[in-house]
This record gives sequence, C-alpha cells and structure tokens, in this order.
Amino acid sequence: MLDLPDELAAAAVRAANDFELFAPQEYVARMRPGDPSDPLLLQVLPRDAETTHTAGFLTDPVGDLAATVRPGLLRKYPGRALMVTTGVCAVHCRYCFRRHYPYSPGPRSIDQWEPALAELAADPTLEEVILSGGDPWVLVDQQLSQLADRLAEIPHLSRLRIHTRLPIVIPQRVTAGLIDTLKRTRLTPWVVVHANHVQELDLSVAKALAALVDAGIVVLNQTVLLAGVNNSFDAQWALCRRLVELRVIPYYLHQLDRVAGAAHFDTPLEHGRAIVEQLRQRLPGFAVPRLVQEIPGELSKTPLA
Ligand SMILES: *Cc1c(COP(=O)(O)O)cnc(C)c1O
Ligand code: SF4
Repeated sequence: MLDLPDELAAAAVRAANDFELFAPQEYVARMRPGDPSDPLLLQVLPRDAETTHTAGFLTDPVGDLAATVRPGLLRKYPGRALMVTTGVCAVHCRYCFRRHYPYSPGPRSIDQWEPALAELAADPTLEEVILSGGDPWVLVDQQLSQLADRLAEIPHLSRLRIHTRLPIVIPQRVTAGLIDTLKRTRLTPWVVVHANHVQELDLSVAKALAALVDAGIVVLNQTVLLAGVNNSFDAQWALCRRLVELRVIPYYLHQLDRVAGAAHFDTPLEHGRAIVEQLRQRLPGFAVPRLVQEIPGELSKTPLA
C-alpha cells in the first residue's frame, strides 16, 4: 500500500511474531508513501530491533500484574481504578507497555465484569473509573452503555474516564451513539486520546474531536516520547499547537515505559526535559504537557520536569 522497500517486509514478518502488525487503513492513509521513516509508519511497523534483548526492558514494565486486584481491574492510585475492558485495540503500537499483557478474550457479556464491579462498589474512596484496555471504544455501543449504566449505579463514583486511541486511528468510530452514552450518564465524562504526531491529526480526526468537544466533553491527549517519531522540539511544538487549536488539552508527555521490544524508541531523560522547557518558553501553560514517567509502586505518575 505504501510502496516501501521489500527488505522492510521480511524484517516485519520476523518481528511481528509475538505482537502482530495491525493498523487500520484510515491510519495508513495518513502515511507518506515510499518513506520508511514516516512518523506514523514507525509507530506500527515491526522492525528487527524489537527482537534484540535489552537489559532493563521488561514484559511488565509498570507492574500491571501486581496492581490487578480483580480480573480486568487495576488499582495503583488513590481515588481511581482502571478497567481493562478488552484486550483488543484498533492499532498495534510497537512501543505499547501492554504489548505482553496476558489479556483474556474480550468480555462477551456484562457478567464478566461482575467481580470488577463488585470491587468498585465495595470501596467508597473511589471517585473515578478509567475504561482502558486494549481500547474500550472497540466495544459495541450497547456493551459500553450497559457498562456505563452499571457504573452510574455505584453512588460514590462521580467521574467516568475513557482512555482511547480510536478517535485518532479510526475517527469514524466517534458516532452519535457513542457520544450519547457519554452525555446520558450521571457520571462526568472525561476522554483522553493518544496522538503522538501532528500528521495524525488530519481533517477526519479534527471532525471527530470537534464532535466530542461540541458535546461538552473535555478531551485531553497523551503522547509517548518516541525516538525517530517525535523526539524533537519541532515535532512536539507542532503537535501541541494543533491540539489546542482543536480544543484538546495536552495532558501527559510520557517518558517511554521500558517494555521488552521497544528499547529502540527510548530517549534520554534530559532530552524530554529540554523539549518541555522550550515548549514552556513558546506556548501558553495549557498547551504544555506534563512530562511524566510511571514508576511501579509510586502513588501517581512521577513528574520529570
Ligand atoms: C496512569 C494510570 C491512571 C491514571 O493516572 P492519572 O494521573 O489520574 O491520569 C490510573 N490507574 C492506573 C493503573 C494507571 O496506570
Ligand atoms: S492503542 Fe494504546 S493499548 Fe493499544 S497498542 Fe496502542 S498504545 Fe497499546
């Protein structure tokens, strides 16, 4: 589809063994044909570097298994809990910190969430539920609205947060039905999308994000600092300006989680700090993301700048 050199294909087949190549056509359409260093292509194309072992890069870099308190429910931080609603995503990002996570097959009915729902109902200190995955918006609307209804019945919950990359990779997923579920629920909805490069934010994505914001939903973005993709001031500057133009607030800029197979995306800590410092000198405060790293055992993401 992209007219790429043949040798990339052989490497991709080798490196895709433990995490398949998977990218939707809507996303591929935003890549530059014939360019092996396209910043969108680099996020999804398996490369030989993934198969080399690097010390300190682990299968569970952020301690997700230790934080799993019920099937599909993670608790790390006070006041909020994260539901792994499905193992399925609309794209496979090569740097994903959950690329080795032992997902069970996606839930087929609300029954499979019962243990997680019981845990949420039993702890009155919880105010917020984060639907994550995988990507929660790969679920069909009916399952999502059923889940939202069950969560809204838990009186101490006040916020429902969705962590999703679907508005970026398949913006057509942001349907009226999906927005309706968020508008209808008693809980205050927050949506956190995941874009890494300005080239991802074309007109179709702009339209999807506008539909969410026009519905009164606050939309934030998180980005992962990725060598070769966006580890420059210019790349981050362009991304942040485009996000705030689209009324999306740059929330977190993540130092890479040290997951096995992603060492070639890692950047030095000092590099991220310098980029954020330069952003601060050029942009309004709301357009500058917080540079953070997830350190297992800490009670929040750790600020680095
Ligand atoms: C990152 C994360 C959160 C959310 O952290 P915020 O700082 O509130 O965005 C919640 N639960 C888990 C398990 C996480 O990894
Ligand atoms: S969409 Fe998110 S969870 Fe899915 S592969 Fe990409 S980074 Fe990982």
